[in-house]
Amino acid sequence: QAKRQGKNRYCLYNAEMAQSQLRKMELEKDLRKALVQQEFEIYYQPKWHAALNKLVGMEALLRWNHPTLGLISPTEFIPIAEETGFIVPITHWLIKEVCEQNKEWQEKKVMNIPVSINMSARVFESQTLHAKLEEALKESGLEPRYLELEITESIALNDKENTIQQLKELQALGVRISMDDFGTGYSSLGYLDEMPINILKIDQSFIQNSSKPTKQAIIGTIISMANHLNIDVVAEGVETKEQNDFLQSTGCQIMQGYYYGKPMPVHLIGDWMEQIYQT
Ligand code: C2E
Ligand code: MG
Ligand code: MG
Ligand code: MG
Repeated sequence: QAKRQGKNRYCLYNAEMAQSQLRKMELEKDLRKALVQQEFEIYYQPKWHAALNKLVGMEALLRWNHPTLGLISPTEFIPIAEETGFIVPITHWLIKEVCEQNKEWQEKKVMNIPVSINMSARVFESQTLHAKLEEALKESGLEPRYLELEITESIALNDKENTIQQLKELQALGVRISMDDFGTGYSSLGYLDEMPINILKIDQSFIQNSSKPTKQAIIGTIISMANHLNIDVVAEGVETKEQNDFLQSTGCQIMQGYYYGKPMPVHLIGDWMEQIYQT
């Protein structure tokens, strides 16, 4: 009987695996058409300066409105887009859209802040970034200092020298570089010294456990190190007042998280601004 149960379980597991494999293949196929069919939407999440009490940035986060499967999370489709290489044209489109959107916000006097875009290693490998950024900035008329690129520690693992070279060229354009999810990768502290970065984002796993003394010690160390290296610090995933207050008292002022605002579609940003500047 036990054997039979075991066998059933094995079958169930297989069926689930097959199911998720099928979904992945379907997404891979549909991703090919998503850009032309205009199924992508850009959400924006605020970065808030706690001491100055004002909006200091936005992060562009991609959403996929699939025609039959509904809204699909980037944690599911970005890895597929990276594997297939579709991430390259998708990112080029994103850069253009973000530059135009940000320029429009400035012209309409909605806000005057940098917007960041997440960058996959694949995009760096394609060696197209500098030209695409230059083109998008020129066509939109957006000043480069209003654009930031978020990279992760894993980006430079493949070809570090080349990545550093590209980052320096991007900085020379006037674009700022941000290290996302800091603390989750494998890199050593020496890495921070080598990588030409302007901003460091403490990963949300530290923030969400910031009532624990060990996590507090790590957060404190990251902040003081960044201060010494003249790197700005952003805390990711701030959800509560306690987390906000701890971070502020530890020397981090720029917060991003549900406590201040979730990622939102463009048409909801006006309402959010009205509400947050009132409270
Ligand atoms: P990320 O760049 O680290 O973005 C932060 C993620 O945490 C976002 O998830 C955001 O919605 C979520 N988040 C923000 N504040 C909170 C909070 O207070 N609590 C919790 N629990 N979560 C919070 P999202 O939008 O699902 O994106 C997930 C990841 O997908 C991003 O992580 C990024 O790595 C990737 N991604 C999203 N858009 C793009 C894109 O356009 N290009 C690339 N290459 N990757 C993208
Ligand atoms: Mg990010
Ligand atoms: Mg992050
Ligand atoms: Mg992340």
